[in-house]
This record gives sequence, C-alpha cells and structure tokens, in this order.
Amino acid sequence: MIELQKALDTVLDNTSLLGFEGVSLTRALNRVLAENITSRDNLPPFDKSAMDGYALNSAETKEGVSKFKITGSIKAGDFPKNGIKAGETVKIMTGAALPEGADAVIQIEKVKTCEDELEVCGKVNRGKNILREGEEIRKGDSVFGKGTFLRPSEIGMLASLGYSSIECYRKPKIIVITTGDELVGVDDEITGGKVRNCNEYALAALGNNLNADVKSYGVVEDNREKILNSVKNAFQEGDIVITSGGVSVGDYDFIEYVLHDIGADIKFTSVKIKPGKPITFATFKNKLFFGLPGNPLSVINTFEVFVTPAVKKMTGRKDILSEEFPVILEDDFRSKGDRDNYVYVNIEERDGKYYAHSVGSQSSNALFTLTRSNGVIIIKEGIKSVKAGDILNGKFIFK
Ligand code: AMP
Ligand code: MG
Repeated sequence: MIELQKALDTVLDNTSLLGFEGVSLTRALNRVLAENITSRDNLPPFDKSAMDGYALNSAETKEGVSKFKITGSIKAGDFPKNGIKAGETVKIMTGAALPEGADAVIQIEKVKTCEDELEVCGKVNRGKNILREGEEIRKGDSVFGKGTFLRPSEIGMLASLGYSSIECYRKPKIIVITTGDELVGVDDEITGGKVRNCNEYALAALGNNLNADVKSYGVVEDNREKILNSVKNAFQEGDIVITSGGVSVGDYDFIEYVLHDIGADIKFTSVKIKPGKPITFATFKNKLFFGLPGNPLSVINTFEVFVTPAVKKMTGRKDILSEEFPVILEDDFRSKGDRDNYVYVNIEERDGKYYAHSVGSQSSNALFTLTRSNGVIIIKEGIKSVKAGDILNGKFIFK
C-alpha cells in the first residue's frame, strides 16, 4: 500500500500531453488552446460611437449654448461618405463609424433638437463617447497564449478576431468497462442479490464533466477471458481505460491478473486512501489504466483524486490539482487513522471563512451522502478524531 501523494505523483509522471487538432469555434468551449493567437485586425476596426447621439467637432462647443445644423444620420454598419463641416452635426447610432471632421459624440439624452437644429449646453470634451480604432487590440498584438482555457468570453473574443477554427489539445478518449455479475440495468427490477449498475453512468458523467470523449463497453461478466478481451480492445481504442470493480481480493476480482496477461506495467494496486484503497494504476505503451474499486463512493472518490488530474494534464490544463483551502469543522468526525480519509461534507462560506458540516454516512457504498455534499475534507493518515472547531483542508468537488 503506497502513500497517496506518491500514487498521485506516479500517475502524473506517467501522463503526457496529448497531441492537438483543429477545432471549430462552435465546439471549442472548455478546450485548451494549443497555439498562440495574434490579432489580424485592429479592434475596434474604425473610430466609432459608443452611444446613440450626435457627432460634432468639440472645438465648436462652449460654456453656454452652441447650435449645430443636423445634416444626416449614420447607422451602425454604414460608413459615412461625407464628413461634417463647420457648424454641422450628424445623428449617429451606437457602433456607427465616426464621420470625418467629428471628434466627439454627445448623447441623445443630453441635447435638445428642433427640426434640423441641435442645441448643446456646455463644452463637450474631445474624444467624448468615441472608441478609437485599435484602442482595445492592435493588429499583430498577441491575444491568447498556448494553454489558455477557453471559456465563453474567449470564444467570443476569438470570433471577433476572425478565428472560426483553432488548434486545441485533443480530448482523451476514455473507455469505461464495468464489471460485476451482480449488476442489472437501470430499467430492470432488482431481484435477489442484484443491484442496479450506477458506476457506469457516474463514470461517464465524470468523464463528460471534464470534456473527455467517453465510450462505455457496458457490463462485462466477472470472467477473466472476457475482461481480458475487453481491456485489450480498450487499449487499442482509448487513451485512458477505466474499469469499475474487480480490484479487491475476492474470488472474482480479475483485473490485476488481466493486466499481467496483457503485459501492462502495473505501478500500484493499493493506496492509503479511504474510500478507494484497492485502486490499481498501470500503463500500457503510452496509455493509462485505472482499475477503480466497485463501491459507488470509492469510484467517484478515486476518479476525482487520480483520474481528474491526469485528464487535465493530458488536455493542457493548468489547474491540474483542485485548490484546497482551510475549512472549519462544524461537527466531530472520526477516522481509522490508517489512511488519508476523504470525508464528503457540505461546505458553506460565511464572512470569508469556509465551514463544513456532516451530511451522513461515509460508508463506501453511500452514494446518497455524496449527493448531499458539495465538497470534501481530508483527515490525514494518523489522525483518528477531529472535533467541531478544528480546521482541516477541504475542497469543492467536480470542479
Ligand atoms: P467490487 O469492487 O467488485 O468487489 O465491488 C464492491 C461493491 O460495489 C459491491 O457491493 C458491488 O456490488 C458494488 N458495485 C460494483 N460495481 C458496481 C456498479 N457498477 N454499480 C453499483 N454497485 C457496484
Ligand atoms: Mg465485483
């Protein structure tokens, strides 16, 4: 049984960045840029009005009242052919190009008009309500570096820069193999000795949550030959192979044997973590294998602790490890002290501090507890009890 930190280091040391591929902008949300982006244009591309108003020459305004002759109107999308001459103004809409001779826009709400005459009260400053060509970004400026995570704001920016397709790190293909002869389908009745298969769905959701490409092979019988064939196919097809169940020491736990049969390089088979001690990690060529335990809470916990950082690293993300922060306990908690204990709780922020309270049994099949939690606190190996008021490290889950 190895220490949790050692296990995580082993996983990350064996994980490398995937290649990259062209991705259309409409599919690029939550992906990571694999190229540097420079601007091909000035933004804004021309001097324009930031308001609905009147474009004028600010030097012609004064303390008191100035009058102008309204000679026309410019809407967004038009490019004015004629400039304004002395004593003239044009009505201008937000986003419209500024006419020659104008250097300011006065808002519609601040003026009076009478037929084609505009009355302006007081001095208007030069540049008022004008967005200058290139004031946001200049042609050739570097905008985003390799490794930028694409949120909705970056997607919008790339569109305004004229990038309909960009290079992003490839999504890992995750193959999920679920084992267990006790499993029946979601739509099936539960009969003697059976349970509904929830891990297949939770694992697919965990992968999708990370924007990975998930394919499930469904439930494979607890049969060494059948599991062997599935795992072989999975290594052909996927970047990451994840199995659920079959990693303990029961008579029907075949995962470790199968890895030996294939010739995979088994890095560890047991980690000082609760829930999820019998987690197996192996590599085969440059592919990763995670044999997760079958208990529903253990599956999710071990995925969060080991698979999530690997997927993030593969896809070029910088936030590989989710942020831990101090959490004040509001209940007492016990631990066996033999392993790092992940206790699922509800974390609330009050006055800039984080507080955790218990949400129920931490038994490794207690998935309902997880549904009531938004985070986890970590009781380190060696500590057997913690009390309300103590401070532990915690983090939010599924981030
Ligand atoms: P195992 O790791 O295969 O020994 O399974 C440990 C426990 O998790 C047993 O109680 C199994 O019935 C349960 N289990 C295993 N796989 C699943 C699954 N896909 N969905 C729900 N429970 C499961
Ligand atoms: Mg099993």
